[in-house]
Amino acid sequence: MPETYSFPKVLIAGGAGYIGSHTAKLFYQAGIVPVVLDNLSTGNRAALRFGPFYEGSIADSRLIGRISEQHQPIGAILFAGAAYVGESTENPRKYFRNNVSDSICFLDAIVDAGIRRVVFSSSCCVYGNVQESISIREDRATAPLSPYGETKLFLEKVLRWYGSAYGLQSICLRYFNAAGADTEGELGELHDPETHLIPLAIQAALGGKPLRIFGTDYATPDGTAIRDYTHVTDLADGHLRALKHLLDGGESLTLNLGTGIGHSVRQVIRAVEQQAGLAVPINYGPRRDGDAPALVADPSRAREVLGWVPEYSSLETIVSTAWRWYREVDRASHCARAVAN
Ligand code: UDP
Repeated sequence: MPETYSFPKVLIAGGAGYIGSHTAKLFYQAGIVPVVLDNLSTGNRAALRFGPFYEGSIADSRLIGRISEQHQPIGAILFAGAAYVGESTENPRKYFRNNVSDSICFLDAIVDAGIRRVVFSSSCCVYGNVQESISIREDRATAPLSPYGETKLFLEKVLRWYGSAYGLQSICLRYFNAAGADTEGELGELHDPETHLIPLAIQAALGGKPLRIFGTDYATPDGTAIRDYTHVTDLADGHLRALKHLLDGGESLTLNLGTGIGHSVRQVIRAVEQQAGLAVPINYGPRRDGDAPALVADPSRAREVLGWVPEYSSLETIVSTAWRWYREVDRASHCARAVAN
């Protein structure tokens, strides 16, 4: 890495994860050095390429105090947390501990360190079981269906009170479906276990387990659920714009990050088949617990306030970048197996 110490820095908690690492790269390219704090419980060490790294917990206030003193970050981004909706219903204590208690420790530590701007990873899960097919605005009533969604909504509320009491300005970004991979092929999605549609469809095309479609009886044109797939680099760009908004003296906000365009499970599968030139073997299962028929953002507020316009979020670009990443991961693991044998 070149000499970076004259550049401004941002503290990124969870910067080794999927969205966190793409965001770290974008900040680095924008001349803001990402200082990453991550416990590597789900993060990926290989994604740590863009600035100083500290392995540790977001609840470690002494560590956060030390990092802040050394690097004087101009703001913080909070990604770290557990993020499986299904797991959260089976193991809610993990979610309330990581995403609520530990996250509050993090906020306390940054407030104590004098940091006054934070961008928070929230989720469209806060909206709950949306039945109507219109796109969702931020002022829609919230009613999370899972402990995961509850924790995100709770942190949004904490941030509002921390704003009025401690002057901690915040932007809560409610992501729709993060998807795709770095357009330069450097970063991508590596979850264990993998539960997301696009990686599972790609793995199925590459000879993995057939993809199970959860529900074909939704009131949608082809009977499968509709989601708003948003490229991870576009989401990363939302964080950069959000922090700049706060640095420019902008007010605290809650914003959707989504494209406003929905795609069904079957449309996604077709896009993967076209990209791969291979069939995606499928089978059918019942609806997954807690899945809404259609979740599509109204992203107009993010466009108006941040000038955020997704650039890479066509389904074609999402699938082609994800495909490239998986082909590389697949190749690398084949090589590793060949060497081991
Ligand atoms: N989905 C599916 N089979 C899978 C994984 C997902 O049919 O193996 C569906 C899921 O029910 C949802 C959509 O694909 O309608 C997107 O799911 P994903 O888990 O990728 O994201 P989520 O919307 O749950 O955040």
